[in-house]
Amino acid sequence: MALKEICGCIHLHTTFSDGDCDYPTLIKTAAEAGLDYVCVTDHMNLKGLSEGYQGLREGVFVIVGYEHNDERNLNHYLAFGTNETAKNMTDPQKYINQIKKMGGIGFLAHPAEKRDYIRKLPPYPWTRWDVKGFDGIELWNQMSDWMEQLRGWQSVTRLFYPRRFLGNVDQELLNRWDELNRVGFISGIGGVDAHSRKLFSIGPFCYRVFPIKVELKGIRTHLFVEKPACGDETKMREAVLRALKDGKGFISNFRLGDARGTQIFLQNENGRLEYPGYPSAAINPPSTINVNLPHKAKIRLLRNGSTIQEIFTNKAQWPIAKPGVYRIEVYKRSSAWIYSNPFPVGKYPI
Ligand SMILES: [Zn+2]
Ligand SMILES: [Zn+2]
Repeated sequence: MALKEICGCIHLHTTFSDGDCDYPTLIKTAAEAGLDYVCVTDHMNLKGLSEGYQGLREGVFVIVGYEHNDERNLNHYLAFGTNETAKNMTDPQKYINQIKKMGGIGFLAHPAEKRDYIRKLPPYPWTRWDVKGFDGIELWNQMSDWMEQLRGWQSVTRLFYPRRFLGNVDQELLNRWDELNRVGFISGIGGVDAHSRKLFSIGPFCYRVFPIKVELKGIRTHLFVEKPACGDETKMREAVLRALKDGKGFISNFRLGDARGTQIFLQNENGRLEYPGYPSAAINPPSTINVNLPHKAKIRLLRNGSTIQEIFTNKAQWPIAKPGVYRIEVYKRSSAWIYSNPFPVGKYPI
C-alpha cells in the first residue's frame, strides 16, 4: 500500500502552560515553515482542545495532546488521543495505564536528560524503566540536546546559534531502544520541546534564544500515513496517531537538510513493501532494505544495535538474510541527520 509522507514537529508548549507562544502564532509559524502537522503538549492540560484548536488550521493539522509528569516533576509522558488528562500523578505505570484506557497513546519524554551544571534547570529524566504499556520513546529532544551542549567556553556561541550545535541521539538511549525493540515494538519520535521562552536579559534587552520560527526548523518527525485520511479530520487524526504509535517513519534534523522525500522501505520476496515501524504482517527473510535520499550522505544499516554496513551514497539496497531488528541512521560528517524507526524481521522476541 502506498503511503503519503507528512512532516511535522512534536512536543510544543504554548501560553496554555509554560510556553511564550500562543496557538495562533504557533499555527501561523508552522504553516510558514511548511509543516504538515504539529503535536502540541502543554503541561497537564488539554486547553487547546476545549479552545477548539485541534484539526486542520491554516493547512497544518494540529493534534492537541499533553505532557504528564509525576508529583516530583519527573517521568514526563507525552500523551495523545485522549479528551481528558489522567488523574494519577504518583505512579508512572498508573498514568500510562489510564491514558491507554482512555484510548490514548504515550511516549516517554526526554528520557535520557542528564545535565547537572545549571542549578535552575535540573534534568527531568525517565527514572521508572520497569513500566510497561507505553507506545514509544522521544528519542531525540531538541531542547535537552541543545542544553547538554551549553557548557564550557563555547557556550556563548551555542546560546546564539542554537540549531548549529544540535548533537546526536544519546547512545545509551539508542542501546536501550534497540534492546526494547527485540522484545516488542517501541516507536521512536523526535521532539522539539518548544517553549519560545525569553531565557535571559542584558540591560533593557531580553533575548529569546529559541524563537518559535527557529524551533520548528530543527528536529522533525516524518510519518507515512494512509492516503484516504485526507479531508476527514477524525480519520486524519486517527491516521497520524496510528503512524506515531506504529513508528511509521523517521526523525530528521532539518538544520542539516530537508529530509522530505526520503524513502526507507523493506521489500520482501513477493514484492510487498513495508515502511519502517510495526509491520502490517510479519516480515521474514529474505528481504531487501532500500534507502533513497534527496542527496548523498553516509547511510548506516544497523542490526540489533550494531552497525553492519555503512556507505556514502543517495541510494542503498541491502539484502536481509537473517532475523533481527534492523534500522537506518544517516550522517553528514559526524552529525546525525536521520534516524529511522526499526524494521522487526522475524518473530518477537527477536
Ligand atoms: Zn518535559
Ligand atoms: Zn515539554
